[in-house]
Amino acid sequence: MEILITNDDGIYAEGIYALATALKKAGNVTVVAPDTQRSAVGHAITITDPLRVTPARRNREFFGYASSGTPADCVKLGIKAIMKKRPDLVVSGINLGGNQAYNILYSGTVSGATEGALLGIPSIAISLDTFTKPDFGPAADFAVKLARQFKKRRLPPGTLLNVNLPNLPARKLKGVRVTNQSLTCFNDWFEKRTDPHGSTYYWMTGDYKPKDADLASDLNALRAGYVSITPIQFNLTDYKFIPELENWNLKL
Ligand code: MN
Repeated sequence: MEILITNDDGIYAEGIYALATALKKAGNVTVVAPDTQRSAVGHAITITDPLRVTPARRNREFFGYASSGTPADCVKLGIKAIMKKRPDLVVSGINLGGNQAYNILYSGTVSGATEGALLGIPSIAISLDTFTKPDFGPAADFAVKLARQFKKRRLPPGTLLNVNLPNLPARKLKGVRVTNQSLTCFNDWFEKRTDPHGSTYYWMTGDYKPKDADLASDLNALRAGYVSITPIQFNLTDYKFIPELENWNLKL
């Protein structure tokens, strides 16, 4: 199995190292990832600048290709320019920070996997729901299990898997829940600060609302200690609204 790995935390992040090391048990791994932190770039691609690609070493060995682009750029580059064979699987992560609820839209991690799905390849995004003291081990092990599923299983065209894990040791994880995206909004605000030169700047921060009434959501699964796995898609059309919009009888 040929596996392409990317992330949005950058090729030198801890999470992608854990993922690439673990996935070597499931196949041949090629890493193409941003050369620096690119979190929350969503599905951005680079069209006005060249894309530089340089070999990246970790632990004194060749690890992968560091690119000046975004996660979506990296997946395109990997498939169309770097890998000799088309990958059988694209895996993006392991992200430091959960990608549940509306975070999916902003996430570079998810967009790396979305690009894989757009190009017709089974794709998985995997994230760890913490920003402090991450233990990537259980997520890396789960990624291997999931990758092996693709020896016999398929995803519908246009569908990818968005996986999130709570930051718990393996023995404390309650199980795996198939979930839907939470519609709970991130409650964000701006901290207003002053820089050393006396100028004002703002830094966005926030958290999720404490209650999500949707018991099947990714957010609730994580809060209850479960691995959350959500099938997601990128066709943004609201089919239900098409007949009503036609009834607007818009004319030139
Ligand atoms: Mn990230």
